[in-house]
Amino acid sequence: MQALMQDWPLLCTKVLDHAANWHPMREVISRSIEGPIHRTNYGEIRSRALKVAQALDKSGIRLGDRCATLAWNTWRHLEVWYGALGIGAIYHTVNPRLFADQIVWIVNDAEDRILFVDLTFVPMVEKLIDKMPTIERVVILTDAAHMPETNLRNAVAYEEWIGAVDGDFRWAEFPETTAAGMCYTSGTTGMPKGVVYSHRSNVIHSWMAASGDMMGIGGRDTIMSVVPLFHANSWGLAFTSPMIGAKLVLPGAKLDGASVHELLETEKVTMTAAVPTVWLMLLQHLEATGGTLSTLKRVVIGGSACPRSMTEAFLKKYGVEVRHAWGMTETSPLATVCNVKPETDGDDVERWLDLQMKQGLVPFGVEMRIVDDADKQLPHDGKTFGRLQVRGPAVAASYYKGMGAEAFQTDGFFDTGDVATIDQYGYMQITDRSKDVIKSGGEWISSIDLENVAVGHPDVAEAAVIGIKHPKWDERPLLIIVPKKDRSPTKADLLAYMDGKIAKWWMPDDVVIADDIPHTATGKIQKLALRERYRDYRLPTA
Ligand code: AMP
Repeated sequence: MQALMQDWPLLCTKVLDHAANWHPMREVISRSIEGPIHRTNYGEIRSRALKVAQALDKSGIRLGDRCATLAWNTWRHLEVWYGALGIGAIYHTVNPRLFADQIVWIVNDAEDRILFVDLTFVPMVEKLIDKMPTIERVVILTDAAHMPETNLRNAVAYEEWIGAVDGDFRWAEFPETTAAGMCYTSGTTGMPKGVVYSHRSNVIHSWMAASGDMMGIGGRDTIMSVVPLFHANSWGLAFTSPMIGAKLVLPGAKLDGASVHELLETEKVTMTAAVPTVWLMLLQHLEATGGTLSTLKRVVIGGSACPRSMTEAFLKKYGVEVRHAWGMTETSPLATVCNVKPETDGDDVERWLDLQMKQGLVPFGVEMRIVDDADKQLPHDGKTFGRLQVRGPAVAASYYKGMGAEAFQTDGFFDTGDVATIDQYGYMQITDRSKDVIKSGGEWISSIDLENVAVGHPDVAEAAVIGIKHPKWDERPLLIIVPKKDRSPTKADLLAYMDGKIAKWWMPDDVVIADDIPHTATGKIQKLALRERYRDYRLPTA
């Protein structure tokens, strides 16, 4: 028997309609690229997004066309997302931190027709535009007064472009499974692969992400999306915040510790989210200036492993709860968040800090398993490592143009490329990317575990561990650390500190004190570049 309930398509534009109808005055604050702090609200954002939709339509952009953005988090970028969504076109965030060749490759692969670009990136686009033949028009996200001299053909200032239409427009209607957004994976190996979200997957993901045990946010929160819109679908915050009617703060181009701290305080932010590298900068700034966090209650940290020392600093020094999260571009992205189950004894602070080393629990809507190389499911004992696989309504079913098909299993699970354990309570812990795990004497050593311990040393700012070829053991761990400013820890200090905190045979065979550790375009430690840098390194034990 067919059910007799309404068929209400889960369209992203309904999220903005809801915010504009029921929370019209709720503010959206941005640090503009031009400099000043800009204040608007969901009511205005919707009116202007309708103009974007109308202007796109007038420019001949149609259902399914890709609209690229090379932009920081600001109200204009948000309007472009919703405007594109409103005609069934596709917002396509391009990560401006990628190498020029990758940007060109991605834009060409997606066959973007229009490009929205921040002032910051105009010089870069001027150099690349001739290699991106599908781009018909460049819209510079600024007003006439700030419009730069440019040789970009057909370039227009955003405010002029939307100023030329009257906003008398209605969102288009189409099935909820229509493509909504596109984001390419960070591509640590090979070329990036395109992930295509649907309206439905975005709406479902936002419901999941907002729930109590995930981000745990509501309409009284002020949310700062430090995570860029171009990193993995903004971790859903571009949808979750308007969905719950929360005030949204967008930090623009300035993600250094001082600038982030200033906005956290002046806008009275209660919840924020980003990768550990950003929080490292904030914590260093607070330490150097004696600053405090007077309104912040919670920070969701993911994208790479959040070390215990970071969670501890947030909690003990600043009274802020960290929630460790794991996800991928392919999973919309939030797939697990670490929160306390009654049976985990999480009320004890030290136990809670230990627990937060794990990436956490799946919400309803994500199925998760670990398997061995023969695809046999592995036990949930917190010790056995396996390939982590997930499936659900907000998980990719394939990549754009069928690339990377081997990651998609016949029973609908997506092989994440991560290696993880799952404990008896269901807490998942990432051990490594499968290609980063160190294979020593037939056993695996988790580089993440070693990094987490090393970065707890009071003189260490950042730590990375890679496997170095070893004649007897196949590979052995090399620890690379960047010291904190004006500190000079030695190899002996580090090894003494780590002794007893990890299994003896996991101890690094050597320690390198370095000036820097390379990062990817999304702020992760770039293991590939490190392995390249230390390719000829000879361990003293070899
Ligand atoms: P991206 O698609 O750029 O967000 O990258 C996804 C990858 O980042 C995952 O497959 C993991 O390898 C890594 N990752 C994300 N969150 C975490 C985390 N909390 N701990 C360790 N690795 C993580």
